[in-house]
Amino acid sequence: MTYPIYKIKDSVDLFLSDEKYLMAYYMNTRQRKSFRINEWTVHLLEIIDGEKNINELVKVMQDEYSVAPEDTKDVLIVMEKNRIITKVEKDCSILSQYDQERYDRQINYFSEFFSEDKAGLLAQKKLMQSRILIFGCGAVGGDIAEELAMAGVQNFTLFDFDTIEKSDLSRHMYYEKGTEGYAKTEVLKQRLLEVDSRLQVTCINKSLKPEENIEDIIIGHDFVINTLDEPYIGYTSAKISRVCVKHNIAHYIAGGFDAHLASTGEIIIPFVTPCVECYAGHFKKTLAGWKPKKHPVAHRYRDIGGLASMSLFSASFACVEIIKYITGLVDMEDSFKVRGELLFNDLKLTYLNVEKNPNCPVCGKGIEK
Ligand SMILES: [Zn+2]
Repeated sequence: MTYPIYKIKDSVDLFLSDEKYLMAYYMNTRQRKSFRINEWTVHLLEIIDGEKNINELVKVMQDEYSVAPEDTKDVLIVMEKNRIITKVEKDCSILSQYDQERYDRQINYFSEFFSEDKAGLLAQKKLMQSRILIFGCGAVGGDIAEELAMAGVQNFTLFDFDTIEKSDLSRHMYYEKGTEGYAKTEVLKQRLLEVDSRLQVTCINKSLKPEENIEDIIIGHDFVINTLDEPYIGYTSAKISRVCVKHNIAHYIAGGFDAHLASTGEIIIPFVTPCVECYAGHFKKTLAGWKPKKHPVAHRYRDIGGLASMSLFSASFACVEIIKYITGLVDMEDSFKVRGELLFNDLKLTYLNVEKNPNCPVCGKGIEK
């Protein structure tokens, strides 16, 4: 029989106050907790070194400080429950040694949210096993793909019809000089393979036409991201979201499109968050009295501007929500965000006041999960 070995969690800082209180500062979640302690608890903390097993700890405490074995065990349980200490995991059946080293910092971060370090490994594994479909490989779609690949996602499907133009080079992190004229999906695929040559990347070089049956494309994926603004984001999002809700697949409508350059976009978890149809209903209501006059200029040439930093903001915001959801780090039902917008001038981040519509024809009452 093997006995658990304990270590103090990497992401926890400990301080003593008046020799009576132990202050724990959880670096990743920025939480603080204070515990009233006795003198020997400090000695116990001093000998938890990531090498001694529980029996050895109990023996040292008994021999050197005359502490009863049950008392030492009780304190270890309380410290483990409060995420101050954790069992050392040397389990390569969850993740290979290579991946444990490659994602070491990230696993450490994930572990903060759980009492067991093993849960951090399992969260990383979930990310690595998820199959992600990205509609649109522009600046935001490409940035999302690259960030998720760096985080460990191994399986991507990339959907886009477009080729790279010269102006893309200033806004897209992964398009380099010499790639003009090539399909965006293929160039992005090469970039992702540079991040990790083990990735499985499928390219679909198509535009999203009304007659396109996307159900066959979507089924088989664990998460879908839409950044396609051709013909326009509202149309592609409605089409994609309907299929995703039908098959209970979470999806993300990313920001960064036309007039919303630093929009956060929104995660859509079927039957939990508002869906695209709920958002459409919200806008219909809030814009009810708005009757704009027809634009006086019949033919107007517009190439709406963009900034690589704003695309990265939208992409990074999306990735945090996507990673939270896939790994199960937090309960998304309580913590998901609706669409927000970062304002360039004063960096204010404001969120829409949109709620799930209980009578929504796509995700409302009476619609089967
Ligand atoms: Zn809805």
